[in-house]
Amino acid sequence: MATLADLLSDLAGGRVEVLDLTAPLSDRTPTIQLPPPFANTNGFALERISNYDEAGPAWYWNNIVAGEHVGTHFDAPVHWVTGKDGLDVSRVPAGQLVGPVVVIDKSAECAANPDYLLEIADVEAWTREHGPLPTGGWVIFRTGWDARADDQAAFLNANETGPHTPGMSVECARWMAQQPILGVGVETVGTDAGAAHSFDPPFPCHSFLLGAGKYGLTQLANVAKLPTTGAILIAAPLPIVGGSGSPARVLALVQR
Ligand code: MN
Repeated sequence: MATLADLLSDLAGGRVEVLDLTAPLSDRTPTIQLPPPFANTNGFALERISNYDEAGPAWYWNNIVAGEHVGTHFDAPVHWVTGKDGLDVSRVPAGQLVGPVVVIDKSAECAANPDYLLEIADVEAWTREHGPLPTGGWVIFRTGWDARADDQAAFLNANETGPHTPGMSVECARWMAQQPILGVGVETVGTDAGAAHSFDPPFPCHSFLLGAGKYGLTQLANVAKLPTTGAILIAAPLPIVGGSGSPARVLALVQR
């Protein structure tokens, strides 16, 4: 039991920090907007049941309304047609909800170009400096986009040509899906670039990664506080039976 006792001691002593990578959930949480003819998701909302009133004199509680893909959330393989025979979110093994995480930081490039696409060469340059991508772990593509998370318009960054947010090239998504990773995490509204509706195939990160049984994590916060390597990610979606994804609490254990 020494390992867990040491962990508790390190947590109590501040040698391991619990970092919250989850954006707060409210009716102001930015939510993806698809163009017609596609159907859109509900955003997040609270519906009051009672608030120490005649409907419940001593208790306060709400119903929650939300799509599966609202706020910081987990994409399961069945979210995409390429993964339709894969796992729904309730069937993701618990052991895969805890794993190593690395950060590929392109926030400076994305500040200069909101349509920045991560390329295979970027990842290979990263691995030359920092080592291999984590087997059974997450790759977080840091774009700095969480700075826009309290403003739906800035977060979606859409104009007459559609949304302009960073993502991954088709080639990089195809390659990433062949790596021994759990999945890819991002700060943007989805794992794909805003312009990925126009790619071939469309939405390549969803198409290749979910099709390969990997996962997505979106709308992460506080990624700037994560070390490049060495942290442990805990991604906890709700086990919605048959669900394509779920809002998730995402935490990281970081050695300080
Ligand atoms: Mn999603």
